[in-house]
Amino acid sequence: MAGSDLKRLRERMVREQIEARGVQDQRVLAAMRKVPRHLFVQEAMTSHAYSDDALPIGSGQTISQPYIVALMSELLEVEPGMTVLEIGTGSGYQAAVLAEMGCEVFTVERQRTLYSKARERLLEMRYFKVRCKLDDGTMGWPEEAPFDRIIVTAGGPSVPEPLVDQLADSGILIMPVGRSRRSQELVMLRQKDGVVTEERFGGVAFVDLVGEHGW
Ligand code: SAH
Repeated sequence: MAGSDLKRLRERMVREQIEARGVQDQRVLAAMRKVPRHLFVQEAMTSHAYSDDALPIGSGQTISQPYIVALMSELLEVEPGMTVLEIGTGSGYQAAVLAEMGCEVFTVERQRTLYSKARERLLEMRYFKVRCKLDDGTMGWPEEAPFDRIIVTAGGPSVPEPLVDQLADSGILIMPVGRSRRSQELVMLRQKDGVVTEERFGGVAFVDLVGEHGW
């Protein structure tokens, strides 16, 4: 598919799937207009890269639906220069969107194949502000903590305690939490002066967060 066609599809994705559903943060919209999502999916999926769906990325995992990436990026209320910890690198797409928004991104993936591919892809695309780690992300990244923002892109039974401990003051954490696998609610924690408050933002369906503090 020609580059200009892909750009047109990407523009349409932002207009019809994201703006039309109420995402207004201009930095989120600009980042999603810029990041070439088709380079984060398997080649056979190129023509589907801008459709309103999650897509397989190998190893039984998925790249999230564009709207969900936009919604979570907006809910994070990021400012340029902030540090963001992401759990679940997957394809690296969400990390690229946050980097495009000016954040310094620390992303953790537990599956070696996905980790290696995403790391290589992000370097090739010159996202030098993203650092990747192969590990159980439910333990966070203690050496780099605290983080201004934390985003978990896999669904778990509860927010892992180490992540709450690694959230900076005035920090925001967002994560799909649910009693059953593949059906969760988007939960946001805000930390202010040592007090953590919780808000919920409706149903989502993410792949499982596994590991020490996962399923
Ligand atoms: N954010 C990704 C999509 C994430 S899919 C993107 O933009 O493409 C969820 C990912 O979380 C999968 O790759 C899965 O392997 C990973 N994952 C699940 N449990 C994990 C854990 N404990 N630590 C790190 N990664 C984990």
